[in-house]
Amino acid sequence: AKEFGIQEALTALGIKDINQGTSTGSNSFSSGEVIESFSPVDGALIAKVKTTSKADYEKVMETATTAFKEWRTKPAPLRGEIVRQFGDKLRELKEPLGKLVSYEMGKSYQEGLGEVQEMIDICDFAVGLSRQLHGLTMHSERPGHRMYEQYHPLGTVGIISAFNFPVAVWAWNTALAWICGDVCIWKPSEKTPLCGIACQNIAAAVFKENNLPEGISCLINGDYKVGELMTNDGRVPLISATGSIRMGKIVAQAVAARLGKSLLELGGNNAIIVTPDADIKMTVIGAVFGAVGTAGQRCTSTRRLIIHESIYDKVKEAVTTAYKQLRIGNPLDEKNHVGPLIDTDAVKNYHHALKKVVEEGGKIIVDGGVLEGEGYESGCYVKPAIAEAQNSYKIVQHETFGPVLYLLKYSGDLENAIAIQNGVVQGLSSAIMTNNLREAEHFLSTYGSDCGIANVNIGTSGAEIGGAFGGEKETGGGRESGSDAWKIYMRRQTNTINYTTELPLAQGIKFDL
Ligand code: NAD
Repeated sequence: AKEFGIQEALTALGIKDINQGTSTGSNSFSSGEVIESFSPVDGALIAKVKTTSKADYEKVMETATTAFKEWRTKPAPLRGEIVRQFGDKLRELKEPLGKLVSYEMGKSYQEGLGEVQEMIDICDFAVGLSRQLHGLTMHSERPGHRMYEQYHPLGTVGIISAFNFPVAVWAWNTALAWICGDVCIWKPSEKTPLCGIACQNIAAAVFKENNLPEGISCLINGDYKVGELMTNDGRVPLISATGSIRMGKIVAQAVAARLGKSLLELGGNNAIIVTPDADIKMTVIGAVFGAVGTAGQRCTSTRRLIIHESIYDKVKEAVTTAYKQLRIGNPLDEKNHVGPLIDTDAVKNYHHALKKVVEEGGKIIVDGGVLEGEGYESGCYVKPAIAEAQNSYKIVQHETFGPVLYLLKYSGDLENAIAIQNGVVQGLSSAIMTNNLREAEHFLSTYGSDCGIANVNIGTSGAEIGGAFGGEKETGGGRESGSDAWKIYMRRQTNTINYTTELPLAQGIKFDL
């Protein structure tokens, strides 16, 4: 950690009390039990964080509710100006924040920087959007009447996020929610609480400089029990939850029981179809980055390669050769391609997948295993593995959050590959590698991929901010980030204005007094 300037990064981000007592950011309410944040990079305790108790939560909610009353009255472009300043602060702190993401979560420093860049990009997107947030106008059937719709702020948005994108997911939600006039309460993953504190400090500084209440951005820390305080709270009209399908099913039921809105961004089981017309060199880069980037811990990680039988051996050979070149080690060292898994529980899940695939009849063709010795003391570094398998295997149907890639063979037409690709419960990201226009268009057609994201000649991971992000089926159906994803953060109102001296009723109904 010393060598990579972690202490300096923590200081730049205002994270104090390292290894002693509490670290609650600028949120001064925390009085719950203490959680410890260990780095998967070297196993070191980075800091202890006090969690949010029920009583603390009530104070946070009060602060948020008061802040909302003020924030919603600011014109949207002015709210955009605050988000612009927030984006500038992120530009200034890109390196320390990228470093903290890498150290606390374990992704490569480059990917840590990329995650902060996504935050900056969504701020830029939100600034422009703050001058739009447009509704439609409609023609009324009644003479002298005008109809239109407008969007109003919704209130308090509850954000629950996963460990693997410890800062970007929050920004995707907040940057939009803020310009929409909402306030946010964020519960980051209990595995990455310091990233949460760092972000809160950055946002708090911007609000303070503008004499705005910090309650526009609130942070609560802890595990699922703290999350449940929000999901069960009728004062939170929208819960945006990112994480496992298991979590999404519980959260969706809790929010639906009080008729709230949820935006769910859940697990994926993403595949790349490789057809006889694929460019093999591009396929290898896309597949390997997709499978081992972030040590296979992206919701969009490539988990299945569906390869046509005529090129199966060639692709298998090219991918396995590429795996031999992978360097596994400290993600802050830019020589390495693959960092650690988040914790030793994740290592257990990875082992379980490799055991199961063999039990179900699969064949491991690139061996896995945990790395030991100098530099691997945290016990979280594993070798990316590849297995030949069938789509019907239970383990293939399940999202294992680690670097395990399954090779699946298809024969005959593209329809067969699409049936395999769609033959899972998840529906997040998908891709096809082909130079054949007919195949590409077939894959994107109504009878093609059933995923929220479908790509041609790029991999499954690495989405851009401008498009709406999310997936179908058990991925949860939510959309975040670009396009018109902002609409879920606002309430829609239809307005009819009569500028005559008559009061005609709609549908020609007569009512004479
Ligand atoms: P997780 O489901 O274990 O936890 C995610 C968050 O939910 C955490 O903050 C956790 O404390 C909270 N939580 C868990 N149970 C809860 C409950 N009952 N009520 C309220 N909150 C609860 O997921 P994880 O291990 O942190 O992340 C990995 C998962 O997230 C993978 O499945 C991955 O695919 C998914 N993910 C999806 C997307 C997407 O955009 N679709 C993005 C990132 C991660």
